[in-house]
Amino acid sequence: MSAPLSNFGVARDATGAVTMEQVSLASVAEQFGTPCFVYSEAALGDAYRKLDAALKAARNGRPYLICYAVKANSNLAVLNLFARMGAGFDIVSGGELKRVLMAGGDAGKVVFSGLGKTAAEMKLALEADIKCFNIESEPELDRLNSVAASMGKRARVSLRVNPDVDAKTHPYISTGLKNNKFGVAFDRALAVYRKAASLANIEVSGVDCHIGSQLVDDTPLREAMSRIVALADALAAEGIPVHHICPGGGIGIVYRNEQTIEIGAYARALQDCLGDRHVELLLEPGRMLVGNAGVLLTRVEYVKPTETKNFLVVDAAMNDLIRPPLYQAYHEVVAVQPGASAQQTYDIVGPICESTDVLAQGRQLSAGEGDLIAILSAGAYSFVMASNYNTRPRAAEVMVSGSSMRSVRKRETFDDVVAGENI
Ligand SMILES: *Cc1c(COP(=O)(O)O)cnc(C)c1O
Repeated sequence: MSAPLSNFGVARDATGAVTMEQVSLASVAEQFGTPCFVYSEAALGDAYRKLDAALKAARNGRPYLICYAVKANSNLAVLNLFARMGAGFDIVSGGELKRVLMAGGDAGKVVFSGLGKTAAEMKLALEADIKCFNIESEPELDRLNSVAASMGKRARVSLRVNPDVDAKTHPYISTGLKNNKFGVAFDRALAVYRKAASLANIEVSGVDCHIGSQLVDDTPLREAMSRIVALADALAAEGIPVHHICPGGGIGIVYRNEQTIEIGAYARALQDCLGDRHVELLLEPGRMLVGNAGVLLTRVEYVKPTETKNFLVVDAAMNDLIRPPLYQAYHEVVAVQPGASAQQTYDIVGPICESTDVLAQGRQLSAGEGDLIAILSAGAYSFVMASNYNTRPRAAEVMVSGSSMRSVRKRETFDDVVAGENI
């Protein structure tokens, strides 16, 4: 059984046509073509306000900051919306920092994650005077110290520690176990903090972790939080107090019919761990703020029956949405207009020359050649992972707000794709 459409920022009107806010998806396709990512400003805003309200209630006057994980959806319009709502940002590259600043974000609310920061990226972030660097190794700490020294600055840092809890999500998006590349091992953390505190151009500012993504049970998140709070206590006892504590992102969304984390309960659990400690609570949510606020709109090119299966060959492909082949991810798929075609079971595939170019398998749909299909929950880790494989220009992105729609990224052209190439 699939979940109701309202979980995905869309609805069916009286005629059965799929709408986002007051705009029909058919009219979006007519104006902007397909394939096309369509986002709902109301759904983005609602997701942010829901998390903000839960944290506000749980913290009861104590400080907190939502640092939106830019990599989930880095469109400037999305960043600008969250910036206007007061968000901070979690970035993983110099490019993302430039996007945040271009979109009107506040550098003073930016935390910089990622395990391979270059000296140039560190310099850029120090010039912008970001809130904090999340440091993932000792060599990175040394490099940041010397870059900051060369600029006559002090860099505020958190260590991203690896609390070694099993997030019980898909192995490709689990990051908190001992054997992966992220973070500083928990039992090394105190020693690395002591070293950080001794460096002239480093200022210890926080404790951070991030154990994985699309978590639908908050038990591992709570466990990770209690470990990093204990670490913060141990640091304070050594005279290295921290100003903020961050359990990262990872809150799962509904792709199908998952019972995912209840935000209010999660916020209260974090507060229970923190008690009266004088620290700021940071969160780094990505997917939960954007995932269900977007769809990928695509048109059926061919209906292809075979001996064993029926295929809908659509004009979107794995270069537009790689989550199904990459993570075996499930996305709901709906026909956008009530059609005359009979309901059948289809695999929905793109035109790319790879057997893995399958967007959805075994779906009951009534759709024929030329019909529109919407792939739901395509607001997170979707357009941002698009490529030009098979020389396919990247799709357009459209923002819907009330009864209006606007382009927030024009469709790439062939000339865009080959710009920069030489013979
Ligand atoms: C990707 C990432 C996030 C966001 O994860 P979501 O599952 O989208 O909430 C947060 N923190 C770090 C360090 C990340 O790499």
